[in-house]
Amino acid sequence: MAHNVTLIPGDGIGPEVTRAAVRIVEASGVKIEWETINAGSEAFQKYGEYIPKELSRSIERTGIGLKGPITTPIGGGFASINVALRKQFELYANFRPVKSLPSLPTRYPSVDLVIVRENTEGQYSGIEHEVVPGVVEALKVITEKASLRIAKFAFEFARREKRKRIHAIHKANIMKMSDGLFLRCCRDIAKDYPEITYGEHIIDNTCMQLVMNPYQYDVLVMENLYGDIISDLCAAFVGGLGLVPGANLGHTCAIFEAVHGSAPDIAGKDMANPTAVLQSAILMLRHIKETEAADRVHAALEKTYKEKLHLTRDVGGAAGTSEFTDALIANLESVAVATG
Ligand code: ATP
Repeated sequence: MAHNVTLIPGDGIGPEVTRAAVRIVEASGVKIEWETINAGSEAFQKYGEYIPKELSRSIERTGIGLKGPITTPIGGGFASINVALRKQFELYANFRPVKSLPSLPTRYPSVDLVIVRENTEGQYSGIEHEVVPGVVEALKVITEKASLRIAKFAFEFARREKRKRIHAIHKANIMKMSDGLFLRCCRDIAKDYPEITYGEHIIDNTCMQLVMNPYQYDVLVMENLYGDIISDLCAAFVGGLGLVPGANLGHTCAIFEAVHGSAPDIAGKDMANPTAVLQSAILMLRHIKETEAADRVHAALEKTYKEKLHLTRDVGGAAGTSEFTDALIANLESVAVATG
């Protein structure tokens, strides 16, 4: 039986990296009917909407999306489409595993931590206004409902995967009410999971602690903006933004996308590393219970990294997106022969 998946190519490097991921998933033998509909500027030109109704209906129907990054204009222009999609479908949990790949020289060789980022509020509520000329207020919204929900998600994940420690990351010494509420919710939920060690670290100290010794962390749960920043920092432990995947999860649907943005500096040059979106596609395969294919694609990915022959420039190689993808597909066949 074929799975139906909504494919949102995005812009910048989005179309290149999603195309690579789709080719690899198809080569794995999993049957997927892709419903390809874009969002962002391209969609606006075609449908007159940044998030076309066709796309919303498709996601409602399939419940699953694989998405490339969509450019957000800086300091003006339309609001982030990435954020709008998360809000529209109540994809409240942003799940970002940061795990080292073998044979990729990095400062820390075997990092394995998970960032759980609240995905619907915080400073991303987008509520800003000019009080008087020269004075702007931006509101950070923290609710008990969203904080309890994300804390529960993190602890449930930790219990299921037998993770040992959760740290709530905050700045409650300064934002006593908002981050204070977030912490109270995390503490409340932690009581129901006595087997998991619960700790709290202030965000600025967390940055230093991570750089000094990332191994002290296991699962980190935090509000939206802290999660955005800590994700990029942690990406550096495993080789950069080209590698780290993500899943936006809600009760009725899930959209899988890389941590990185649209990388306009390398767009259209066959230079982007598709590993991050491919690893997001692997999370998607696990989500739709195609576990064997997910394992096989992951084994082929590891083999391609171990061989070091066709790696992209961001991780020290000289290959383009398509050469890396071809090599991985060839390895997929040999992995299939070896395991089958
Ligand atoms: P956003 O705020 O939209 O998430 P960002 O500020 O994180 O975006 P990116 O667009 O992700 O910025 O790019 C940051 C840097 O990382 C750029 O130099 C870009 O070329 C590089 N980069 C991002 N993704 C990749 C990738 N898949 N392969 C190679 N380099 C990448």
